[in-house]
Amino acid sequence: MDRRDFFKFGLGGVGLAVGGGLASSKEKAYSSPGREIHGHPWWVRGLEKPKLAIDDKVYSRFHPRKSVFGSFPKYYGMDKLRELRQRSREKTMEYYKEDRPGYRLEDRALADAAWVISRLGGVNKGTRSWTRKFVPTPEQRGVEKYKKSPEEAAHLIKAAARYFGAATVGVTILDRRHIHSHERGKEVVFEVVDEPYDNEKKLVIPDKCKYAIALSVQMSLDNIACSPTAISSAGSSMGYSRCEFLVAGLAEFIRGLGYVAIPSVNDLGSSVAIAADAGLGELGRTNRLITPEFGPMVRLAKVLTDLPLTVDKPIDFGLAEFCKVCKRCAEACPSKSLSFDEEPSFEVRGEWNNPGHQAWFEDSPKCLAYWQESTSGCSICLAVCPWSKKDKTMIHEIVKAASAKIPILDGFFTSMDEAFGYGRQKSAEKWWDLNLPEYGIDTSQGKG
Ligand code: SF4
Ligand code: SF4
Repeated sequence: MDRRDFFKFGLGGVGLAVGGGLASSKEKAYSSPGREIHGHPWWVRGLEKPKLAIDDKVYSRFHPRKSVFGSFPKYYGMDKLRELRQRSREKTMEYYKEDRPGYRLEDRALADAAWVISRLGGVNKGTRSWTRKFVPTPEQRGVEKYKKSPEEAAHLIKAAARYFGAATVGVTILDRRHIHSHERGKEVVFEVVDEPYDNEKKLVIPDKCKYAIALSVQMSLDNIACSPTAISSAGSSMGYSRCEFLVAGLAEFIRGLGYVAIPSVNDLGSSVAIAADAGLGELGRTNRLITPEFGPMVRLAKVLTDLPLTVDKPIDFGLAEFCKVCKRCAEACPSKSLSFDEEPSFEVRGEWNNPGHQAWFEDSPKCLAYWQESTSGCSICLAVCPWSKKDKTMIHEIVKAASAKIPILDGFFTSMDEAFGYGRQKSAEKWWDLNLPEYGIDTSQGKG
């Protein structure tokens, strides 16, 4: 059966099966307040807790000193590290001389230039300032702060987040264990204060900031599919810059309503854990968030606030079952950093993994070493994931819906995805000739 036949005949049966399966069950599509507009596709189910469990006796706040960037020198030793970096520099120069597509001056300039907005922020700095930059307060406008219901506030926040560039938005009660214990050498503490602040020793989050708004922005699959080249890196750096713009705008909007807002991208705490709680996606074999709408083709950010909001539920769209069968990311990983285990577990691979939660844990220093080797980072595991689809056509919706509802088909879809050539590396040279939409992403796809 070729691709055409599959779509013509194979999916007809699958569509009937999905429809029949749903019709026969009493299950309803997941919908919570605000979700009617800013919601997930109909085949996504709401849960009380994320599917992959947390061991409350073990799970605690993570010190970023143990992150892969801190662990890397310990894992390899300084000599090996110097050798890796030197080899990376030499290869970079060789590639320039060869004029190798994806590693040319223009490719690297694009990747670095796409960081520029991201570099305007830091922990409680610039675009990630924890206090008001510019927007007038309600008091300055001579009016009371925003006081409508949490349901209406959630609706408002989701609309504003989408306007500032979010692909998907969710709200959760902040689990403080997801917040780092330290950041940039300072302790992160919660205190009963009106405004956040920091001094030489500590970063202070007001105790009243009980809500976390989880945000995703799309990355360009056209870029990431060129991994591991600088064109692919530009897809990541653009994602970070768009996160920066998003959290800066959303935080100012919340302050303009009269509330505290603490914007954060990768800093301050686990965006993945917060996003899983807020129902943006599930944890996949890559130990990264996979969303039902855009797969792993997203960057994550968050804003903490005291604005009362209706919260969302964690979700299940069949990913955990799918990943047990699929393993495409692990097979494609050039450094063999990803787990081939059948089941997710509580067994971490090193100090870079925060223990006490269930996951497919990865060997992050090996991954980072490959980033040096490639000279321009890597996103191969994201590009090959069958959930990374650029278009949201009916066909892909049916396949995703079937995967969510009929796990027995997961292996079949993985094989078909591979056979059709999805996830194969794309030409970085041809990327420059694409007629790209804004930011290289399809902005029409946001709605579920
Ligand atoms: S980024 Fe590349 S090296 Fe790292 S886990 Fe993914 S595929 Fe492997
Ligand atoms: S490639 Fe397959 S196994 Fe890996 S995260 Fe995606 S669905 Fe899961």
